[in-house]
Amino acid sequence: MVEMLKGIAASDGVAVAKAYLLVQPDLSFSKTNVEDVAAEEARLQVALTTSTEELQAIREKAAQSLGEEEAQVFDAHLMVLSDPEMIGQINQNISDNKVNAEAALKEVTDMYIGMFEAMDDNAYMQERAADIRDVAKRILAHLLGVTLPNPSMINEEVVVVAHDLTPSDTAQLDRNFVKAFVTDVGGRTSHSAIMARSLEIPAIVGTKEITAKVKAGDILAVNGIEGDVIVNPTDDQAAEFKKAGDAYAAQKAEWEKLKNAETVTADGKHFELAANIGTPKDLEGVHNNGGEGIGLYRTEFLYMDSPDFPTEEDQFVAYKAVLEGMAGKPVVVRTMDIGGDKELPYLKLPHEMNPFLGYRALRISLSEQGDDMFRTQMRALLRASVYGNLRIMFPMVATIKEFRAAKQIFEEEKAKLVSEGVEVSNEIQVGIMIEIPAAAVIADKFAKEVDFFSVGTNDLIQYTMAADRMNERVSYLYQPYNPSILRLLKNVIDAAHAEGKWAGMCGEMAGDQTAVPLLMGLGLDEFSMSATSILKTRSLMKRLDTTKMTELANRAIDECDTMEEVVALVEEYTN
Ligand code: PEP
Ligand code: MG
Repeated sequence: MVEMLKGIAASDGVAVAKAYLLVQPDLSFSKTNVEDVAAEEARLQVALTTSTEELQAIREKAAQSLGEEEAQVFDAHLMVLSDPEMIGQINQNISDNKVNAEAALKEVTDMYIGMFEAMDDNAYMQERAADIRDVAKRILAHLLGVTLPNPSMINEEVVVVAHDLTPSDTAQLDRNFVKAFVTDVGGRTSHSAIMARSLEIPAIVGTKEITAKVKAGDILAVNGIEGDVIVNPTDDQAAEFKKAGDAYAAQKAEWEKLKNAETVTADGKHFELAANIGTPKDLEGVHNNGGEGIGLYRTEFLYMDSPDFPTEEDQFVAYKAVLEGMAGKPVVVRTMDIGGDKELPYLKLPHEMNPFLGYRALRISLSEQGDDMFRTQMRALLRASVYGNLRIMFPMVATIKEFRAAKQIFEEEKAKLVSEGVEVSNEIQVGIMIEIPAAAVIADKFAKEVDFFSVGTNDLIQYTMAADRMNERVSYLYQPYNPSILRLLKNVIDAAHAEGKWAGMCGEMAGDQTAVPLLMGLGLDEFSMSATSILKTRSLMKRLDTTKMTELANRAIDECDTMEEVVALVEEYTN
Protein backbone atom coordinates (compact mmCIF):
# COMPACT_ATOMS: atom_id res chain seq x y z
CA MET A 1 0.00 0.00 0.00
CA VAL A 2 1.28 3.46 -0.87
CA GLU A 3 1.90 5.52 2.31
CA MET A 4 3.26 9.03 2.45
CA LEU A 5 5.10 10.34 5.46
CA LYS A 6 6.61 13.70 6.31
CA GLY A 7 9.65 14.13 8.51
CA ILE A 8 12.42 16.60 9.20
CA ALA A 9 14.71 17.02 6.18
CA ALA A 10 18.09 16.20 7.71
CA SER A 11 20.47 15.59 4.83
CA ASP A 12 20.05 16.58 1.17
CA GLY A 13 19.65 14.06 -1.60
CA VAL A 14 17.10 11.67 -3.06
CA ALA A 15 17.00 7.86 -3.14
CA VAL A 16 14.66 5.05 -4.09
CA ALA A 17 15.61 1.62 -2.69
CA LYS A 18 14.51 -1.37 -0.64
CA ALA A 19 13.95 -0.83 3.09
CA TYR A 20 16.37 -2.36 5.58
CA LEU A 21 14.84 -2.44 9.04
CA LEU A 22 17.35 -1.68 11.71
CA VAL A 23 14.94 -2.55 14.50
CA GLN A 24 15.29 -5.06 17.28
CA PRO A 25 13.18 -8.16 16.55
CA ASP A 26 10.88 -9.71 19.12
CA LEU A 27 12.94 -12.20 21.14
CA SER A 28 10.25 -13.26 23.59
CA PHE A 29 9.69 -16.99 24.28
CA SER A 30 8.07 -19.28 26.84
CA LYS A 31 9.81 -21.75 29.07
CA THR A 32 8.65 -25.25 28.12
CA ASN A 33 9.44 -28.80 29.15
CA VAL A 34 11.14 -31.03 26.61
CA GLU A 35 11.15 -34.80 26.38
CA ASP A 36 13.92 -35.23 23.84
CA VAL A 37 16.95 -33.74 25.60
CA ALA A 38 19.36 -34.79 22.84
CA ALA A 39 17.31 -32.98 20.21
CA GLU A 40 17.25 -29.84 22.35
CA GLU A 41 21.01 -29.96 22.84
CA ALA A 42 21.41 -30.38 19.09
CA ARG A 43 19.23 -27.25 18.52
CA LEU A 44 21.51 -25.37 20.87
CA GLN A 45 24.57 -26.64 19.03
CA VAL A 46 23.21 -25.47 15.67
CA ALA A 47 22.50 -22.01 17.11
CA LEU A 48 26.01 -21.84 18.56
CA THR A 49 27.63 -22.86 15.29
CA THR A 50 25.57 -20.41 13.23
CA SER A 51 26.30 -17.61 15.72
CA THR A 52 30.02 -18.36 15.52
CA GLU A 53 30.04 -18.32 11.73
CA GLU A 54 28.07 -15.11 11.68
CA LEU A 55 30.36 -13.40 14.18
CA GLN A 56 33.46 -14.50 12.27
CA ALA A 57 32.04 -12.90 9.12
CA ILE A 58 31.16 -9.69 10.99
CA ARG A 59 34.63 -9.61 12.52
CA GLU A 60 36.28 -9.96 9.14
CA LYS A 61 34.15 -7.19 7.66
CA ALA A 62 34.87 -4.90 10.63
CA ALA A 63 38.61 -5.52 10.32
CA GLN A 64 38.49 -4.53 6.65
CA SER A 65 36.33 -1.46 6.98
CA LEU A 66 37.10 -0.17 10.47
CA GLY A 67 40.51 -1.64 11.29
CA GLU A 68 41.90 -4.44 13.38
CA GLU A 69 41.43 -2.63 16.70
CA GLU A 70 37.69 -2.09 16.18
CA ALA A 71 37.33 -5.72 15.16
CA GLN A 72 38.72 -6.95 18.45
CA VAL A 73 35.42 -6.45 20.25
CA PHE A 74 34.14 -9.41 18.21
CA ASP A 75 37.02 -11.57 19.43
CA ALA A 76 35.63 -11.11 22.92
CA HIS A 77 32.22 -12.26 21.64
CA LEU A 78 33.74 -15.30 19.94
CA MET A 79 35.48 -16.19 23.18
CA VAL A 80 32.17 -16.14 25.04
CA LEU A 81 30.71 -18.44 22.41
CA SER A 82 33.46 -20.98 22.86
CA ASP A 83 33.60 -20.84 26.65
CA PRO A 84 33.32 -24.56 27.59
CA GLU A 85 32.20 -23.83 31.13
CA MET A 86 29.28 -21.64 30.20
CA ILE A 87 28.17 -23.80 27.27
CA GLY A 88 28.51 -26.90 29.48
CA GLN A 89 26.22 -25.30 32.07
CA ILE A 90 23.56 -24.53 29.46
CA ASN A 91 23.59 -28.15 28.25
CA GLN A 92 23.49 -29.35 31.83
CA ASN A 93 20.50 -27.11 32.50
CA ILE A 94 18.68 -28.65 29.51
CA SER A 95 19.34 -32.22 30.61
CA ASP A 96 18.85 -31.75 34.38
CA ASN A 97 15.69 -29.69 34.17
CA LYS A 98 14.31 -30.89 30.80
CA VAL A 99 13.73 -27.30 29.66
CA ASN A 100 13.93 -25.80 26.19
CA ALA A 101 17.27 -24.40 25.02
CA GLU A 102 15.96 -20.80 25.09
CA ALA A 103 15.12 -21.00 28.80
CA ALA A 104 18.36 -22.82 29.65
CA LEU A 105 20.41 -20.25 27.77
CA LYS A 106 18.69 -17.32 29.45
CA GLU A 107 19.02 -18.72 32.94
CA VAL A 108 22.74 -19.43 32.65
CA THR A 109 23.71 -16.23 30.80
CA ASP A 110 21.62 -14.08 33.19
CA MET A 111 23.51 -15.65 36.06
CA TYR A 112 26.87 -14.75 34.47
CA ILE A 113 25.74 -11.24 33.56
CA GLY A 114 24.51 -10.65 37.13
CA MET A 115 27.79 -11.91 38.54
CA PHE A 116 29.94 -9.62 36.37
CA GLU A 117 27.67 -6.63 36.87
CA ALA A 118 27.87 -7.03 40.62
CA MET A 119 31.58 -6.20 40.39
CA ASP A 120 30.45 -2.63 40.25
CA ASP A 121 33.52 -0.50 39.83
CA ASN A 122 35.45 -2.73 37.48
CA ALA A 123 35.11 -1.54 33.88
CA TYR A 124 36.59 -4.79 32.52
CA MET A 125 33.92 -6.88 34.26
CA GLN A 126 31.18 -4.53 33.03
CA GLU A 127 32.39 -5.07 29.49
CA ARG A 128 32.32 -8.86 29.98
CA ALA A 129 28.71 -8.56 31.12
CA ALA A 130 27.89 -6.55 28.00
CA ASP A 131 29.66 -9.13 25.77
CA ILE A 132 27.67 -12.00 27.27
CA ARG A 133 24.42 -10.06 26.87
CA ASP A 134 25.19 -9.46 23.18
CA VAL A 135 26.17 -13.04 22.50
CA ALA A 136 23.15 -14.46 24.36
CA LYS A 137 20.90 -12.28 22.21
CA ARG A 138 22.50 -13.62 19.05
CA ILE A 139 22.15 -17.29 20.10
CA LEU A 140 18.56 -16.71 21.19
CA ALA A 141 17.72 -15.10 17.83
CA HIS A 142 19.01 -18.20 16.05
CA LEU A 143 17.06 -20.51 18.37
CA LEU A 144 13.91 -18.53 17.58
CA GLY A 145 14.68 -18.33 13.88
CA VAL A 146 14.68 -14.51 13.71
CA THR A 147 17.37 -12.31 12.17
CA LEU A 148 19.23 -9.66 14.11
CA PRO A 149 19.89 -6.54 12.05
CA ASN A 150 23.51 -5.78 11.33
CA PRO A 151 24.22 -2.59 9.43
CA SER A 152 27.86 -3.44 8.82
CA MET A 153 26.86 -6.52 6.75
CA ILE A 154 24.59 -4.66 4.32
CA ASN A 155 25.74 -5.53 0.80
CA GLU A 156 22.98 -4.23 -1.47
CA GLU A 157 21.41 -0.81 -2.04
CA VAL A 158 19.00 -0.02 0.80
CA VAL A 159 17.26 2.71 2.75
CA VAL A 160 17.90 2.09 6.45
CA VAL A 161 14.80 2.46 8.63
CA ALA A 162 15.27 2.80 12.38
CA HIS A 163 13.55 4.16 15.45
CA ASP A 164 16.73 6.12 16.17
CA LEU A 165 20.34 5.93 15.08
CA THR A 166 23.19 6.60 17.46
CA PRO A 167 26.26 8.43 16.14
CA SER A 168 28.16 5.10 16.22
CA ASP A 169 25.39 3.31 14.24
CA THR A 170 25.64 6.09 11.68
CA ALA A 171 29.43 5.83 11.47
CA GLN A 172 29.06 2.15 10.51
CA LEU A 173 26.84 2.83 7.51
CA ASP A 174 28.56 2.10 4.23
CA ARG A 175 27.55 4.83 1.81
CA ASN A 176 28.11 2.54 -1.16
CA PHE A 177 25.06 0.58 -0.08
CA VAL A 178 23.10 2.79 2.29
CA LYS A 179 21.37 5.20 -0.06
CA ALA A 180 19.40 7.01 2.68
CA PHE A 181 18.08 6.62 6.20
CA VAL A 182 14.78 7.45 7.82
CA THR A 183 14.06 7.46 11.57
CA ASP A 184 11.08 7.86 13.89
CA VAL A 185 12.79 10.33 16.23
CA GLY A 186 15.51 12.99 16.14
CA GLY A 187 16.01 16.54 14.98
CA ARG A 188 18.10 18.32 12.33
CA THR A 189 20.89 18.90 14.82
CA SER A 190 21.03 15.41 16.36
CA HIS A 191 24.52 14.09 15.77
CA SER A 192 23.34 11.29 13.49
CA ALA A 193 21.78 13.95 11.22
CA ILE A 194 24.98 16.00 11.28
CA MET A 195 27.00 12.91 10.38
CA ALA A 196 24.63 12.02 7.56
CA ARG A 197 25.42 15.39 6.01
CA SER A 198 29.16 14.81 6.15
CA LEU A 199 28.74 11.27 4.80
CA GLU A 200 26.43 12.69 2.10
CA ILE A 201 23.72 10.17 2.91
CA PRO A 202 20.22 11.61 2.32
CA ALA A 203 18.30 11.46 5.60
CA ILE A 204 14.93 12.19 7.12
CA VAL A 205 14.47 12.13 10.88
CA GLY A 206 11.53 12.60 13.22
CA THR A 207 8.86 10.93 11.03
CA LYS A 208 7.38 9.57 14.31
CA GLU A 209 6.06 6.37 12.67
CA ILE A 210 8.32 5.08 9.90
CA THR A 211 9.13 1.84 11.76
CA ALA A 212 5.42 1.16 12.22
CA LYS A 213 4.62 1.73 8.54
CA VAL A 214 7.43 -0.19 6.85
CA LYS A 215 8.08 -3.92 6.52
CA ALA A 216 11.33 -5.51 5.36
CA GLY A 217 11.46 -5.51 1.58
CA ASP A 218 9.12 -2.53 1.06
CA ILE A 219 10.41 0.00 -1.45
CA LEU A 220 11.01 3.51 -0.11
CA ALA A 221 11.31 6.75 -2.03
CA VAL A 222 13.13 9.35 0.08
CA ASN A 223 13.57 13.04 -0.57
CA GLY A 224 15.96 14.40 2.07
CA ILE A 225 15.67 17.95 0.73
CA GLU A 226 11.93 18.16 1.36
CA GLY A 227 11.58 15.58 4.13
CA ASP A 228 9.17 13.38 2.13
CA VAL A 229 9.04 9.58 2.20
CA ILE A 230 6.76 7.33 0.13
CA VAL A 231 6.37 3.68 1.08
CA ASN A 232 5.92 1.47 -2.01
CA PRO A 233 5.64 4.33 -4.50
CA THR A 234 3.84 3.88 -7.81
CA ASP A 235 6.07 3.85 -10.90
CA ASP A 236 5.13 7.48 -11.56
CA GLN A 237 6.01 8.54 -8.02
CA ALA A 238 9.34 6.69 -8.14
CA ALA A 239 10.11 8.37 -11.46
CA GLU A 240 9.27 11.77 -9.95
CA PHE A 241 11.67 11.17 -7.05
CA LYS A 242 14.39 10.03 -9.45
CA LYS A 243 13.86 13.25 -11.43
CA ALA A 244 14.27 15.31 -8.24
CA GLY A 245 17.48 13.34 -7.57
CA ASP A 246 18.81 14.17 -11.05
CA ALA A 247 17.96 17.86 -10.60
CA TYR A 248 19.84 17.88 -7.30
CA ALA A 249 22.86 16.22 -8.93
CA ALA A 250 22.84 18.87 -11.68
CA GLN A 251 22.65 21.63 -9.07
CA LYS A 252 25.59 20.09 -7.22
CA ALA A 253 27.63 20.01 -10.42
CA GLU A 254 26.99 23.77 -10.80
CA TRP A 255 28.15 24.47 -7.24
CA GLU A 256 31.25 22.34 -7.78
CA LYS A 257 32.54 24.90 -10.26
CA LEU A 258 33.16 27.17 -7.24
CA LYS A 259 35.45 24.67 -5.53
CA ASN A 260 38.61 26.69 -6.01
CA ALA A 261 36.95 30.11 -6.05
CA GLU A 262 37.30 32.71 -3.30
CA THR A 263 34.27 33.42 -1.14
CA VAL A 264 33.41 36.99 -2.09
CA THR A 265 30.10 38.80 -1.94
CA ALA A 266 28.61 40.86 -4.76
CA ASP A 267 30.27 43.94 -3.19
CA GLY A 268 33.65 42.22 -2.87
CA LYS A 269 33.71 41.34 0.83
CA HIS A 270 35.33 38.07 1.94
CA PHE A 271 33.87 35.66 4.48
CA GLU A 272 35.67 32.57 5.67
CA LEU A 273 33.86 29.31 4.89
CA ALA A 274 35.22 26.53 7.06
CA ALA A 275 34.17 22.94 7.66
CA ASN A 276 33.12 20.88 10.67
CA ILE A 277 34.86 17.52 10.94
CA GLY A 278 34.76 14.52 13.28
CA THR A 279 37.90 12.66 12.18
CA PRO A 280 41.01 13.25 10.05
CA LYS A 281 39.30 11.07 7.41
CA ASP A 282 36.83 13.91 6.81
CA LEU A 283 39.61 16.10 5.35
CA GLU A 284 39.06 14.63 1.90
CA GLY A 285 35.48 15.98 1.92
CA VAL A 286 36.75 19.36 3.13
CA HIS A 287 39.16 19.65 0.20
CA ASN A 288 36.62 18.34 -2.29
CA ASN A 289 34.23 21.03 -1.15
CA GLY A 290 36.69 23.92 -1.11
CA GLY A 291 36.85 24.41 2.68
CA GLU A 292 38.98 27.40 3.74
CA GLY A 293 39.73 26.00 7.17
CA ILE A 294 38.36 23.78 9.91
CA GLY A 295 36.00 25.71 12.15
CA LEU A 296 35.13 22.76 14.37
CA TYR A 297 36.95 19.48 14.87
CA ARG A 298 34.69 17.46 17.17
CA THR A 299 37.41 15.50 18.97
CA GLU A 300 34.96 13.39 20.98
CA PHE A 301 34.70 11.06 17.96
CA LEU A 302 38.35 10.16 18.52
CA TYR A 303 37.32 8.94 21.96
CA MET A 304 34.14 7.29 20.71
CA ASP A 305 35.96 5.38 17.96
CA SER A 306 38.42 3.91 20.40
CA PRO A 307 37.87 0.94 22.76
CA ASP A 308 39.62 2.84 25.57
CA PHE A 309 40.88 6.38 26.24
CA PRO A 310 43.02 7.42 23.26
CA THR A 311 46.61 7.91 24.38
CA GLU A 312 48.47 11.21 24.08
CA GLU A 313 50.32 9.71 21.11
CA ASP A 314 47.10 8.55 19.37
CA GLN A 315 45.70 12.03 19.74
CA PHE A 316 48.90 13.74 18.68
CA VAL A 317 48.90 11.70 15.45
CA ALA A 318 45.29 12.68 14.66
CA TYR A 319 45.74 16.40 15.41
CA LYS A 320 49.00 16.56 13.48
CA ALA A 321 47.33 14.88 10.49
CA VAL A 322 44.56 17.49 10.46
CA LEU A 323 46.93 20.45 10.92
CA GLU A 324 49.28 19.22 8.21
CA GLY A 325 46.36 18.32 5.96
CA MET A 326 45.12 21.90 6.14
CA ALA A 327 48.58 23.27 5.28
CA GLY A 328 48.60 26.38 7.44
CA LYS A 329 44.90 27.17 7.14
CA PRO A 330 43.16 27.68 10.49
CA VAL A 331 42.06 24.57 12.39
CA VAL A 332 39.78 25.02 15.40
CA VAL A 333 39.98 21.95 17.60
CA ARG A 334 37.29 21.62 20.22
CA THR A 335 38.21 19.76 23.38
CA MET A 336 36.10 16.67 23.93
CA ASP A 337 32.36 17.11 24.26
CA ILE A 338 31.14 13.80 25.66
CA GLY A 339 27.66 13.67 27.16
CA GLY A 340 24.26 14.62 25.74
CA ASP A 341 23.70 12.15 22.89
CA LYS A 342 27.40 11.19 22.75
CA GLU A 343 28.32 8.35 25.08
CA LEU A 344 31.62 6.73 25.91
CA PRO A 345 31.24 3.13 27.10
CA TYR A 346 34.52 3.15 29.02
CA LEU A 347 33.89 6.45 30.81
CA LYS A 348 31.41 5.74 33.53
CA LEU A 349 28.93 8.57 33.55
CA PRO A 350 25.92 8.74 35.84
CA HIS A 351 22.54 8.12 34.24
CA GLU A 352 20.85 11.52 34.11
CA MET A 353 17.30 12.76 33.61
CA ASN A 354 18.46 15.61 31.36
CA PRO A 355 21.81 14.68 29.85
CA PHE A 356 21.95 17.82 27.68
CA LEU A 357 21.71 19.92 30.85
CA GLY A 358 24.02 17.72 32.82
CA TYR A 359 27.52 16.49 33.26
CA ARG A 360 28.90 17.12 29.81
CA ALA A 361 31.87 18.50 27.83
CA LEU A 362 34.01 21.01 29.75
CA ARG A 363 32.11 20.15 32.94
CA ILE A 364 33.66 16.67 32.75
CA SER A 365 37.06 18.03 31.69
CA LEU A 366 37.22 20.30 34.72
CA SER A 367 36.08 17.65 37.21
CA GLU A 368 38.38 15.41 39.19
CA GLN A 369 37.29 12.46 37.01
CA GLY A 370 38.16 14.28 33.78
CA ASP A 371 41.37 16.05 34.83
CA ASP A 372 43.80 13.45 33.46
CA MET A 373 41.85 13.07 30.27
CA PHE A 374 41.79 16.84 29.72
CA ARG A 375 45.49 17.32 30.43
CA THR A 376 46.37 14.46 28.07
CA GLN A 377 44.34 16.10 25.34
CA MET A 378 45.95 19.47 26.01
CA ARG A 379 49.44 18.01 25.77
CA ALA A 380 48.66 16.24 22.51
CA LEU A 381 47.28 19.47 21.07
CA LEU A 382 50.23 21.55 22.25
CA ARG A 383 52.71 19.08 20.75
CA ALA A 384 50.81 19.11 17.44
CA SER A 385 50.59 22.91 17.40
CA VAL A 386 53.87 23.35 15.51
CA TYR A 387 52.46 21.55 12.46
CA GLY A 388 49.94 24.17 11.42
CA ASN A 389 47.61 26.96 12.52
CA LEU A 390 45.99 25.59 15.68
CA ARG A 391 43.14 27.20 17.59
CA ILE A 392 41.81 25.52 20.71
CA MET A 393 38.17 25.87 21.72
CA PHE A 394 36.34 24.88 24.90
CA PRO A 395 32.74 23.62 24.62
CA MET A 396 29.81 24.34 26.95
CA VAL A 397 31.34 27.28 28.79
CA ALA A 398 28.76 28.89 31.09
CA THR A 399 30.93 31.04 33.36
CA ILE A 400 34.10 33.09 33.12
CA LYS A 401 35.53 30.99 35.95
CA GLU A 402 35.23 27.85 33.83
CA PHE A 403 37.09 29.51 30.98
CA ARG A 404 39.84 30.68 33.32
CA ALA A 405 40.20 27.21 34.83
CA ALA A 406 40.49 25.59 31.41
CA LYS A 407 42.91 28.25 30.17
CA GLN A 408 45.04 27.72 33.27
CA ILE A 409 45.33 24.00 32.53
CA PHE A 410 46.36 24.91 28.98
CA GLU A 411 49.05 27.26 30.39
CA GLU A 412 50.26 24.70 32.94
CA GLU A 413 50.65 21.94 30.36
CA LYS A 414 52.32 24.35 27.96
CA ALA A 415 54.85 25.38 30.63
CA LYS A 416 55.54 21.73 31.48
CA LEU A 417 56.19 20.84 27.84
CA VAL A 418 58.44 23.84 27.35
CA SER A 419 60.43 22.90 30.46
CA GLU A 420 60.78 19.37 29.01
CA GLY A 421 62.28 20.94 25.90
CA VAL A 422 59.28 20.16 23.66
CA GLU A 423 58.59 22.69 20.95
CA VAL A 424 55.14 24.32 21.07
CA SER A 425 53.68 27.17 19.08
CA ASN A 426 53.26 30.58 20.69
CA GLU A 427 50.55 31.56 18.23
CA ILE A 428 47.77 29.26 19.48
CA GLN A 429 44.50 31.13 19.84
CA VAL A 430 42.30 29.96 22.71
CA GLY A 431 38.59 30.58 22.40
CA ILE A 432 35.20 29.33 23.49
CA MET A 433 31.99 28.08 22.04
CA ILE A 434 29.06 30.33 22.75
CA GLU A 435 26.31 27.78 23.19
CA ILE A 436 24.91 28.58 26.61
CA PRO A 437 22.67 31.67 26.82
CA ALA A 438 24.44 32.83 30.02
CA ALA A 439 27.69 33.18 28.07
CA ALA A 440 25.96 34.88 25.14
CA VAL A 441 24.45 37.49 27.45
CA ILE A 442 27.79 38.45 28.99
CA ALA A 443 29.77 38.05 25.78
CA ASP A 444 31.29 41.51 26.36
CA LYS A 445 33.01 40.20 29.49
CA PHE A 446 34.20 36.99 27.83
CA ALA A 447 35.49 38.97 24.83
CA LYS A 448 38.10 40.62 27.04
CA GLU A 449 39.66 37.25 27.90
CA VAL A 450 39.24 34.93 24.93
CA ASP A 451 40.83 35.06 21.48
CA PHE A 452 37.62 34.19 19.63
CA PHE A 453 34.05 33.02 19.84
CA SER A 454 32.39 30.30 17.82
CA VAL A 455 28.65 30.17 18.27
CA GLY A 456 27.24 26.68 18.73
CA THR A 457 23.69 27.31 17.66
CA ASN A 458 22.71 23.64 17.88
CA ASP A 459 22.87 23.98 21.63
CA LEU A 460 22.34 27.73 21.96
CA ILE A 461 18.93 27.46 20.28
CA GLN A 462 17.84 24.45 22.33
CA TYR A 463 18.81 26.19 25.57
CA THR A 464 17.35 29.57 24.62
CA MET A 465 14.03 28.13 23.43
CA ALA A 466 14.03 25.32 26.04
CA ALA A 467 13.41 22.85 23.20
CA ASP A 468 15.38 19.60 23.17
CA ARG A 469 17.30 19.38 19.89
CA MET A 470 16.62 15.63 19.74
CA ASN A 471 12.88 15.80 20.25
CA GLU A 472 10.79 15.95 17.09
CA ARG A 473 7.70 16.90 19.11
CA VAL A 474 9.18 20.29 19.97
CA SER A 475 11.11 20.76 16.74
CA TYR A 476 8.70 23.57 15.79
CA LEU A 477 10.36 25.59 18.57
CA TYR A 478 13.78 25.03 17.11
CA GLN A 479 13.80 28.46 15.47
CA PRO A 480 17.16 29.77 14.26
CA TYR A 481 15.54 32.88 12.78
CA ASN A 482 13.54 33.82 15.85
CA PRO A 483 14.25 37.49 16.71
CA SER A 484 15.36 36.36 20.20
CA ILE A 485 18.15 34.27 18.68
CA LEU A 486 19.13 37.05 16.28
CA ARG A 487 19.40 39.50 19.18
CA LEU A 488 21.64 37.14 21.11
CA LEU A 489 23.83 36.64 18.03
CA LYS A 490 24.14 40.37 17.48
CA ASN A 491 25.19 40.78 21.10
CA VAL A 492 27.88 38.13 20.71
CA ILE A 493 29.27 39.34 17.38
CA ASP A 494 29.32 43.02 18.43
CA ALA A 495 31.00 42.10 21.74
CA ALA A 496 33.78 40.23 19.92
CA HIS A 497 34.36 43.07 17.49
CA ALA A 498 34.43 45.70 20.26
CA GLU A 499 37.49 43.89 21.65
CA GLY A 500 39.08 43.29 18.24
CA LYS A 501 38.30 39.55 18.34
CA TRP A 502 36.69 37.42 15.65
CA ALA A 503 33.34 35.68 15.89
CA GLY A 504 32.49 32.52 14.01
CA MET A 505 29.68 30.02 14.07
CA CYS A 506 29.97 26.25 13.94
CA GLY A 507 26.38 25.27 14.67
CA GLU A 508 24.27 24.03 11.76
CA MET A 509 22.74 27.50 11.40
CA ALA A 510 25.99 28.67 9.74
CA GLY A 511 25.17 26.61 6.63
CA ASP A 512 21.43 27.28 6.67
CA GLN A 513 20.61 29.12 3.46
CA THR A 514 17.91 31.29 5.05
CA ALA A 515 20.20 32.22 7.95
CA VAL A 516 23.31 33.01 5.90
CA PRO A 517 22.05 36.42 4.62
CA LEU A 518 21.16 37.43 8.19
CA LEU A 519 24.52 36.29 9.55
CA MET A 520 26.38 38.17 6.82
CA GLY A 521 24.40 41.25 7.84
CA LEU A 522 25.27 40.75 11.50
CA GLY A 523 28.97 40.72 10.54
CA LEU A 524 29.82 37.12 11.42
CA ASP A 525 33.45 36.56 10.38
CA GLU A 526 33.66 32.81 9.94
CA PHE A 527 30.99 30.29 8.91
CA SER A 528 31.75 26.67 9.73
CA MET A 529 29.43 23.94 8.48
CA SER A 530 29.13 20.40 7.12
CA ALA A 531 31.60 20.38 4.23
CA THR A 532 28.76 19.52 1.86
CA SER A 533 27.09 22.90 2.55
CA ILE A 534 30.15 25.02 1.70
CA LEU A 535 29.74 25.32 -2.06
CA LYS A 536 26.07 26.20 -2.01
CA THR A 537 26.83 28.86 0.63
CA ARG A 538 29.67 30.26 -1.49
CA SER A 539 27.28 30.40 -4.43
CA LEU A 540 24.66 32.23 -2.34
CA MET A 541 27.14 34.74 -0.90
CA LYS A 542 28.42 35.60 -4.36
CA ARG A 543 25.11 37.16 -5.27
CA LEU A 544 24.44 39.07 -2.03
CA ASP A 545 25.47 42.59 -1.08
CA THR A 546 26.67 43.11 2.51
CA THR A 547 25.24 46.63 2.92
CA LYS A 548 21.82 45.31 1.99
CA MET A 549 22.25 42.31 4.30
CA THR A 550 23.12 44.65 7.20
CA GLU A 551 19.90 46.51 6.55
CA LEU A 552 18.06 43.16 6.44
CA ALA A 553 19.54 42.00 9.76
CA ASN A 554 18.77 45.28 11.51
CA ARG A 555 15.22 45.33 10.23
CA ALA A 556 14.71 41.66 11.23
CA ILE A 557 15.84 42.47 14.76
CA ASP A 558 13.96 45.77 15.11
CA GLU A 559 10.76 45.17 13.18
CA CYS A 560 9.96 41.46 13.21
CA ASP A 561 8.02 39.79 16.02
CA THR A 562 8.10 36.22 14.75
CA MET A 563 10.31 33.79 12.93
CA GLU A 564 7.83 33.73 10.04
CA GLU A 565 8.15 37.48 9.60
CA VAL A 566 11.94 37.17 9.54
CA VAL A 567 11.77 34.44 6.87
CA ALA A 568 9.48 36.61 4.72
CA LEU A 569 11.89 39.54 5.06
CA VAL A 570 14.87 37.38 4.08
CA GLU A 571 12.97 36.29 0.98
CA GLU A 572 12.22 39.91 0.11
CA TYR A 573 15.93 40.81 0.34
CA THR A 574 17.36 37.80 -1.44
CA ASN A 575 15.01 37.11 -4.36
C1 PEP B 1 26.61 23.31 18.64
O1 PEP B 1 26.13 23.08 19.74
O2 PEP B 1 26.14 24.13 17.83
C2 PEP B 1 27.81 22.58 18.19
C3 PEP B 1 28.41 22.92 17.07
O3 PEP B 1 28.24 21.54 18.94
P1 PEP B 1 27.55 20.11 18.98
O4 PEP B 1 26.59 20.03 17.84
O5 PEP B 1 28.64 19.11 18.86
O6 PEP B 1 26.88 20.10 20.32
MG1 MG C 1 27.20 22.01 21.23
